[in-house]
Amino acid sequence: MTSSTPFQVDADITVVPGVGPRLAAVLGRMEITTVGGLLDHIPMRYEHEHAESTIAEVDAALPDDEGAAANVSVRGEIAAIKIPPGRRPRIEVTLEDETGTVQLVWFNAPWLRNKLRPGLRLVAEGRAKRWRGYLQIGNPQWREEDDVETPARDARLRPVYPASEDLPSRRIEEFVTKVLEPATKTLIDPLPDEIRKSRALKRLGDAYRDIHQPESPRDAADARRRLAFDELLLLQLGVMMKRRHLRETMKAAPLALTPEIEKRILGRFPFELTPDQRQVCREIGADLARDVPTNRLLQGDVGAGKTAVAVHAMLLAAAHGHQSAIMAPTGILAEQHHASISRMLEGAEVEVGLLTGSTPAKEKRVLLERIAAGDVKLLIGTHALLSEGTVFDDLALVIIDEQHRFGVEQRSKLRRPNAEGRVPHVLVMTATPIPRTLSLTVFGDLDVSVIRHLPPGRTPTVTRVVAPSKAPDVYGYLAERVAAGEQGFVVVPAVEESDMGLADVENHLKMLAAGPLSGVRLGAIHGRMSRDEREGVMDRFRARDIDVLVATVVIEVGVDVPNATVMVVEHAERFGLAQLHQLRGRVGRGEKRGVCALIGEPTTEEGRRRLEAIGGTEDGFEIAELDLGIRGPGELFGARQSGLPPFRVADLLNDLDLLRLARQDAADWIERDPRLLGPDAVHMRRRLMARYGATLGLGDVG
Ligand code: ADP
Ligand code: MG
Repeated sequence: MTSSTPFQVDADITVVPGVGPRLAAVLGRMEITTVGGLLDHIPMRYEHEHAESTIAEVDAALPDDEGAAANVSVRGEIAAIKIPPGRRPRIEVTLEDETGTVQLVWFNAPWLRNKLRPGLRLVAEGRAKRWRGYLQIGNPQWREEDDVETPARDARLRPVYPASEDLPSRRIEEFVTKVLEPATKTLIDPLPDEIRKSRALKRLGDAYRDIHQPESPRDAADARRRLAFDELLLLQLGVMMKRRHLRETMKAAPLALTPEIEKRILGRFPFELTPDQRQVCREIGADLARDVPTNRLLQGDVGAGKTAVAVHAMLLAAAHGHQSAIMAPTGILAEQHHASISRMLEGAEVEVGLLTGSTPAKEKRVLLERIAAGDVKLLIGTHALLSEGTVFDDLALVIIDEQHRFGVEQRSKLRRPNAEGRVPHVLVMTATPIPRTLSLTVFGDLDVSVIRHLPPGRTPTVTRVVAPSKAPDVYGYLAERVAAGEQGFVVVPAVEESDMGLADVENHLKMLAAGPLSGVRLGAIHGRMSRDEREGVMDRFRARDIDVLVATVVIEVGVDVPNATVMVVEHAERFGLAQLHQLRGRVGRGEKRGVCALIGEPTTEEGRRRLEAIGGTEDGFEIAELDLGIRGPGELFGARQSGLPPFRVADLLNDLDLLRLARQDAADWIERDPRLLGPDAVHMRRRLMARYGATLGLGDVG
């Protein structure tokens, strides 16, 4: 684009010599569209290359005695190829440079016959020794010399890039080599010198140079540290700037929890709140009493009783005449919340509404009118709550159930100010504890409350990992429990028949009905059913007209039927740990002990470790950490769930210390310059807006 300074980081990738439209498309698929994108394409690892020598140098350096050996790298042309007859297949190549010859010998590598030919130029590396008067390298590593190659005279680390069939690492290296010097020269380091020095970090240009062409592993590690720090700092700055802005400029309706209101609310509950629940309600109450918008995360393991806390807060809003909404991740869960909240409020004046994707159009129209008029005080719903069409009269509180399914972006959507310029308080609830690293980053703008103990009378669910061959025993046990008046779930991975040989709801139900569970009243439930159908099935299950529900993971979260005691999961290896933990949380919610059978045959080491892990612990927090350790943050709370672009360099598992430093520096910086308008912040601010402006909704910050 800018032809005078072709290698500015924002220049289109086609300015790189050799990159035409075809390669630009290939690079585009790797998300490299600019020169800067190329610089940000970080090597996965490095290969050691030995110092290169001429053949005469190798000869001179090697002692004369037979058996002496040294690691060498030489370059030359194939002068001759010999395939001597004999028992062990062997290829002998004479490699020649201007100074001499060396013999390369490969054993048991017949395919090399088709690859090597006289005249070919090679770089060969390996252990050189003397053998019957010859200089010889046995089974060397080799590659064809490509014309793009810079002569590698010194020992070096050669970068290995994430690559594809169309674009091997070496081509990427070639392009990087072309832009590295000129691009890093025009690069402006956005990090103030003061921070850089206090954290002993390299300059940005040096970091790019050293990550792509390090002189030593230490260089590469230091470069990585600098680039990771930048990523962590940027996210922290974004999150903190946003938080500060919210606190300073946004007002919410103050909802004081007076003793009289408190008494009225508690009277509606069919049970006493546990000490943990009361403590958490107090913390939330203290937040809500202020006109500063609450932004709190409520953590509590599956079955800990978070819903009661949510309802407590919603009733507080209603007591002050304001609207509140709770948003659930699935229609089934919203329907269930609606049923239980409606039950609690029987006889009260408060109007409760339910809005999900399957609310019929006509009903929805009426409901939306009543919401806009402020008649509906408590609204329960799914993502539909976020749609443009849902306009509240006076929304004072939003609760998001099962936080990890909602991104940062959704949260900020909820904070649209109403006519009086007020935004709602936001409370998010999660049963999947957020590992510390992540709570410091993606969710770094939230205060945290925790319910640590389950309500009284619970016994922990027993989990067993079972091989498919033992499935009949599992179903036999389930049939016994049903005969004893209890209920259960059977979860399968697919809704419909697939060609992958996975159990699907319909066929699995037929199979069970025809065999191991004949005589048991079975029902099916999955996400493709209409709301009415689903509600009908759930009602019948609750009323014990259905003994066993065959389901997909739609029942994963929230489903609350205390008489259900057995959870069977088919193909358990296909589910995430947090998901399995949620699933087993569907049983053992009453007085009777729950049993969870995970039927699965993990084919990979990772799969085996996962199932062992879930069998080995009850502690959701531990499971979240394990999940993070086994699958990596990308899978669990990575870009997709959080809505934030993923890190390229930083690694949440290993960069915790660096994260702490970045967090501290970000906090200091925002404290000193809340909107990053100072002269030293110009470039950082620009980066921040480019990376997080949209997802964090920083546009309105200034
Ligand atoms: P989760 O934290 O998983 O959302 P729920 O709110 O669904 O948990 O509560 C799980 C079960 O515990 C429900 O059946 C609920 O009625 C019951 N429960 C919640 N709080 C209490 C309590 N203080 N005493 C007795 N039962 C409770
Ligand atoms: Mg819940």
